[in-house]
Amino acid sequence: MAEGSALVLFSGGQDSTVCLAWALDRYARVETVGFAYGQRHAIELDQRPVILKEIAARFPAWAPRLADDHVLQLSTLGQISESSLTRDVAFEMSAAGLPNTFVPGRNLLFFTYAAALAYRRGIRTLVGGMCETDFSGYPDCRNDTLQSLAASLSLGMDTAFRIETPLMWIDKAASWVMAKSLGGDGLLDLIVQHTHTCYTSDRSTQHPWGVGCGTCPACVLREKGWEQWQTVRS
Ligand code: ZN
Repeated sequence: MAEGSALVLFSGGQDSTVCLAWALDRYARVETVGFAYGQRHAIELDQRPVILKEIAARFPAWAPRLADDHVLQLSTLGQISESSLTRDVAFEMSAAGLPNTFVPGRNLLFFTYAAALAYRRGIRTLVGGMCETDFSGYPDCRNDTLQSLAASLSLGMDTAFRIETPLMWIDKAASWVMAKSLGGDGLLDLIVQHTHTCYTSDRSTQHPWGVGCGTCPACVLREKGWEQWQTVRS
């Protein structure tokens, strides 16, 4: 019997959609939050209501658990960062060895805003799709970063927050396995058709693994995970 509530950081991408399904499987009431931060692929935000509607339609057991959706404006993040995710520059590696898609502090800000929202909504569990296993080198996706943030948020708001990251220790292939076990072929199909991962705004090219340009770092990672899953699957 599912009980309790959670707030899922839901971008409209593959990982956060799997996390949303994970939360719907466990919690009686699940709210979602997305952030408009000037991302180049703001088209992912357009996919959020589509995905929520599809989940409600395809999964009758989850539909009543899906509660309010929130979109917060964080345009200052785009203003202060030089990332290729918020500027029209080529995707490449920086001198620090990080892809220039890195938006410094992004997840710290996201969780801080999410916690402030959750506080008001009476929710104490925050869920995010960060992953240390095949992460792109983003230091704000690390488990240590997020668990120390959970401690800071709990102290700073005098409230016991938990940050749950169901994908933290698994790779992209295993995240497809998780999706399948949570929602079967219906969820797989939903992810392939409706989630947006591509750093460009390509929603016109359908591949077996999803929609996107097929060449940006996000598409390459997503395709690689799908291919790995095909070998595990058969
Ligand atoms: Zn792409």
